[in-house]
Amino acid sequence: MIKTQAIFPEEKETIPPESFRDRIATVDGKGKRKWVFAQKPKGRFYSIRTYVSWGFFILFFVLPFVTVKGRPLFLFNIPEARFIIFGKVFWPQDFFIFGLTMITFIVFIVLFTAAFGRLFCGWVCPQTIFMEMLFRKLEYLIEGDAAEQKILKKISWGEKKILKKTVKHTAFFLLSLIIANFFLSYIIGMKELTKIISEPVTEHFGGFVAIIVFSGVFYGVYAYFREQVCTVICPYGRLQSVLLDRNSMIVAYDYKRGEPREKFKKKIKAETNPGNCIDCFQCVKVCPTGIDIRNGTQMECVGCTACIDACDRMMDAVGSPRGLIRYASENGIASGMKLKYTPRMKFYTFLLVLLSGLLAILLLSRKDIDGTILRASNMLYQERGSDSVSNLYNIKVINKTIKDIPLTLRLENAPGRIIEVEGRNVDVKKEAQGKRSFFIVLPNNFIKDRKTKLIVGLYEGDKQIATLKTNFMGPIYHPEMEKEEKKEKEENLNKDH
Ligand code: SF4
Ligand code: SF4
Repeated sequence: MIKTQAIFPEEKETIPPESFRDRIATVDGKGKRKWVFAQKPKGRFYSIRTYVSWGFFILFFVLPFVTVKGRPLFLFNIPEARFIIFGKVFWPQDFFIFGLTMITFIVFIVLFTAAFGRLFCGWVCPQTIFMEMLFRKLEYLIEGDAAEQKILKKISWGEKKILKKTVKHTAFFLLSLIIANFFLSYIIGMKELTKIISEPVTEHFGGFVAIIVFSGVFYGVYAYFREQVCTVICPYGRLQSVLLDRNSMIVAYDYKRGEPREKFKKKIKAETNPGNCIDCFQCVKVCPTGIDIRNGTQMECVGCTACIDACDRMMDAVGSPRGLIRYASENGIASGMKLKYTPRMKFYTFLLVLLSGLLAILLLSRKDIDGTILRASNMLYQERGSDSVSNLYNIKVINKTIKDIPLTLRLENAPGRIIEVEGRNVDVKKEAQGKRSFFIVLPNNFIKDRKTKLIVGLYEGDKQIATLKTNFMGPIYHPEMEKEEKKEKEENLNKDH
């Protein structure tokens, strides 16, 4: 069977039926980009998605202004390895929590995708929301719907085309600039961003360059690259083929009900009983990735539901039941089976619950003051007079709170004392690290081993804030041996006399 190319049906390019599997829909046989002029969708799913996008925009543009105890609610400062999640600061020392959060998130994604396909992409992915609900709508406003955009592309450069293109690209760049600023605020915080914007460029040249680069990237993505991000770059999109199975919920065409497809007029005349698809191509014309969902599940489908709305409208128009394209699983379409909770999903759920529990324990037991004590390198012990021995240590304390804390050190499990090298307190500024050197002095008769385990308490006034563990290196000292040595010496002396 030979059929027309799905994306531009009016061009009547003839291609073999399975050729859509050979290359992505937006690239022609010569590897050249085919621009998608997606028709404006209309329908119940599009309306709900519009409301969801408003929620997303409110969150995206408001959250950088929200602070908890003077800190941003969220901060993902990758260059400085500093993260704030729900107002809690995470340092490189909390990396295992961060790592576990990432693993939990990945398991969630796997489970979610196995069950619900690309629901995330279609409904809440920032790329889809910005593209379809902001830039695309702006484009419809300036250039008109798909048909007008095609005409505008074909006509030669005149006053009208120059004006429309200039307005569109200026608006696109300004929007990209705004998005880039807010995006950056999630990395460096609103305070720092305000400084970059309000102070001379020379004082924040790096920040200024970052804003321009981000703006350029966003502009490039939304003005030119568009659906290619989802179909070529996005790693989540690439993983769909291994994450989805025949029980996953996807946007699917009910070929059992739809085939054999037939144009509506012919259908009326037909003596046989053709399928419900009237081959109107409305589902193809609205698709932002340029595919024909009637070819089956394709990796380019971002689950945006535009084709469901388009087909439902056509079904209403010809008096057939809605849902020829709908949310369903492949098995559901093939055998009428309902969506199932499969053993694979059960295993992922178990894993997810386990990881979430672990994460909760780690988060709850996470300390606001943390640190390490290390013995000074290349030094053994120092004998202090005839009755004690000391070791030199370096302490590094991290203060994750939002107040400066002067800390004092106390030995918790030994009778010795601590001698600070540079003053009594380890002053640790808020959200910063403090360093200090100190000696621990232990009496000889306490040292029973080459290595003695010690616990050092960190105190703010009389309140213990944290405890840290370290080792004390000393000579092996046995009082019994000393007594025997003394006795031996006395006996030798007596013998001599
Ligand atoms: S096939 Fe349908 S759901 Fe998938 S991207 Fe195209 S319009 Fe959206
Ligand atoms: S919109 Fe519905 S009826 Fe029209 S071509 Fe697509 S599947 Fe067939």
